[in-house]
Amino acid sequence: MRTAGAELQQESVRSLYLHVPFCSHKCHYCDFYSLVDTQDRQEAFTQRLIQELHGLAPFAAGTPLGTIFVGGGTPSLLRVPLWKRLLEALTDRFDLSGIRQGRGEFTVECNPESVSPELLDTLRGTGADRISMGAQSFDRAHLKTLDRIHNPESVSRAVAMARSAGFERLSIDLIFGIPGQTLDDWKRDLDSALSLGTEHLSCYNLTYEQGTAMTARLARGEFQPADEDVEVDMYEMTVDHLAAAGFRRYEISNYSKPGREALHNLAYWRQENWLAAGPSASGHVGGWRWKNVARLDDYLRASADGLPEVADAEAPDRARALRERVWTGLRLWEGLDAESTIAAAGQIRDSAARALQDAVHRVREQGLLDDSGGRWVLNKRGMLIADSIVVDLMAALDR
Ligand code: SF4
Repeated sequence: MRTAGAELQQESVRSLYLHVPFCSHKCHYCDFYSLVDTQDRQEAFTQRLIQELHGLAPFAAGTPLGTIFVGGGTPSLLRVPLWKRLLEALTDRFDLSGIRQGRGEFTVECNPESVSPELLDTLRGTGADRISMGAQSFDRAHLKTLDRIHNPESVSRAVAMARSAGFERLSIDLIFGIPGQTLDDWKRDLDSALSLGTEHLSCYNLTYEQGTAMTARLARGEFQPADEDVEVDMYEMTVDHLAAAGFRRYEISNYSKPGREALHNLAYWRQENWLAAGPSASGHVGGWRWKNVARLDDYLRASADGLPEVADAEAPDRARALRERVWTGLRLWEGLDAESTIAAAGQIRDSAARALQDAVHRVREQGLLDDSGGRWVLNKRGMLIADSIVVDLMAALDR
């Protein structure tokens, strides 16, 4: 951001991500940047985040924000008086008029055990209109396997609280492929989420990330991972079961009622511009990508312009942008616009455009991709092996 300076202030930025790093404890499968909250650093963090927001505000000047997403960590752990200060700074420094008039989206991630009516009222009062609830499962045993600290009942209690605070938009996060989980268990989890009247579901296949406690337990042989065939059955059942309930899979792991897609995440997947604040937060503006330092102590260090130290920054790069576009675009229900994607490949080299078209042709011949209305769209079978298809297309771009 600093390097690109004034050039980036010409870009239209409509999305903002904030990262709140505190959690009650570290869940065994999680590799997001978060630290166990000892309460004593919340105030310093909030002050620093506000300072960063001041530094970022000029990049969004003149454009009402379309989406805000506060993730983590567990944003609902931040104490209410600190939330009030943060929301006041957001209102002061950014134009939230579009969001307040219902022409945008303001999501806050919450965990069931840490929401309170006071917090939800505070969020709603400032224009937050969507809660993303980390349920993960409604089965006590599976929650224990994941080392989650909430119980199934707390999810419905938290959802009821959110509803009475006036939140109409609600997303629930679930995980499938938990060791010991059966297809029936997973179907029960989906039904429990549906019974809460949610309009958006994120259903993630459990992955074993390097450095997590879950991966270490797996390596020690403490449990058997889910069978891959069962995971495929779970995925296929999810698509069908949710379709029958009126949900459309609009991204590989995300399902919504029509018109209730997560606008903020769509901005990521469509490679739009977004600002990001908080430790480990990553932003993207005008082809620049950057990631803030992750360690809270490093993040808290003051700087003259309000912006924290950047751990990683990448200048605009056509080849990288095309890869990202293929990577995220093919995971979307809307797929990729064929003409502009070929043109983008042609700007790298003619042979890249031809190789990409040939590779897409092969995927289409295998019955995994449809060419519909000038867009490349993976079908149900294709979505199951989206990763390997994308890897093939990337390899074609390198030839
Ligand atoms: S609550 Fe969420 S962010 Fe925090 S440790 Fe658990 S999974 Fe990770």
